[in-house]
Amino acid sequence: MTYFNIAMLIIVAAYAIFVIIYAVLMRKIKSNFSQDNNSITTDITKQVFYKIIEAYEKAEPSIAKNWLSSNYYESLKNEINQLNAKGIRRIIEIKPTPVEDGTAPSDEPSLTVATGFYMEEGKNKAVQMLASYYGDDYYVDSNGNRITKATYKNDHRSITFIFVKSVTHTDSEKENYICKNCGNPLQINGDKLSCPYCSTIYNVGDYDWSLAYDNTSVERNNTSKAKAMLPLIIIIPAFLLMFFGAWWMTFIPAIPICAYFTTIFMKSKKMKENISALVAKDSLFSLDGMSQRSDRLIKKVKYAKLNNNLLQVKPFCTEHMYNKLQDDKYDICGLLHDNITFSVNTIGMRQYFEGDGIQYVTVEVKLSVFNFNTGKESKQKITATFARKDGVQTNSYCGVINVECPNCMASIDVGEKAKCDYCGTTIDMINYDWVLHDIF
Ligand SMILES: [Zn+2]
Ligand SMILES: [Zn+2]
Repeated sequence: MTYFNIAMLIIVAAYAIFVIIYAVLMRKIKSNFSQDNNSITTDITKQVFYKIIEAYEKAEPSIAKNWLSSNYYESLKNEINQLNAKGIRRIIEIKPTPVEDGTAPSDEPSLTVATGFYMEEGKNKAVQMLASYYGDDYYVDSNGNRITKATYKNDHRSITFIFVKSVTHTDSEKENYICKNCGNPLQINGDKLSCPYCSTIYNVGDYDWSLAYDNTSVERNNTSKAKAMLPLIIIIPAFLLMFFGAWWMTFIPAIPICAYFTTIFMKSKKMKENISALVAKDSLFSLDGMSQRSDRLIKKVKYAKLNNNLLQVKPFCTEHMYNKLQDDKYDICGLLHDNITFSVNTIGMRQYFEGDGIQYVTVEVKLSVFNFNTGKESKQKITATFARKDGVQTNSYCGVINVECPNCMASIDVGEKAKCDYCGTTIDMINYDWVLHDIF
């Protein structure tokens, strides 16, 4: 071995130590998120999930309505209506945990729920509930035949549910509690609320939560193994070159690796600069929050255009976006079609700029798109720009927000439509939260 080889070995060892320390630190940070403070119980989370499954299975969104924020309910209703029009149903099956040692699996459904982080954001409290199960999630046609092509039928699935509750909620309101399950008045027994009709029991602290957002990730055994091998395929030849090749050959693998990390570094540096410019003005701004807004708002405009109901989303769009939506040829990057459903996976910050008293944020949005004609899921990347009035602060989690009517002072839930139920005044959402400015 030459000195050069030894130097390389030291660098590789240092890198390995760095990776280990990083992994340990991340674990620590993750566990700090867990907090049980005033959180919705795991039992209620399971109950809500089963209601959603039933709503999909029976194509009846109202089954889950009482548990959902108006945002979430609108999006569930739109999705089920779209499926219903094509005679398609979504089936979510929770199966027992598979066993590898050959013993018979128990019949117990594998669904487990843990409490994630708890936070207060402006007018909302939010709690993250982390569910996971083994099972299947697929579509069937009107004859009950499976449309979804993927054949992995017992994947491990993780769902992040986010429940929100108004911070102004007080215990004095509990006289008015009605059962979310059957709609009858609840009786109070100490810190429990019980339904005399359907026997559901709630903790007082559980009660006002409603589900505002969920995000599913699937672990597929077959693909994850192949993916784990990929770095090895690159690293092993690189090592062979380092130790057995001529000294200059070391640079052959080093060049693409350095180039790769440099691009990632530059990208994240730019991203951090943009985000910190915003956080300086609005300490609660977060990419997670923008990801949830992207999912909700892009679905909102899709269904408004699909259902010829554009006027309803006008308050959630800038004039530029609204004009674009009115163009018959504009298909929202292919997302408009009634043979696809989609959900936002992640977003990345691209640009932040200001003009004429408006803040603009451009993000790259990565979507999972399911196509009913092919039965396949694919990935798609689009770019979206959001706008809000300069000076507006993030004051809601997942965009679940109550606004005071500027005309009659009534409190309006602007999740579904930005209009006062009492006096008919339309609320211009750009004064309260991010609205869509462009999708391209
Ligand atoms: Zn009941
Ligand atoms: Zn009003």
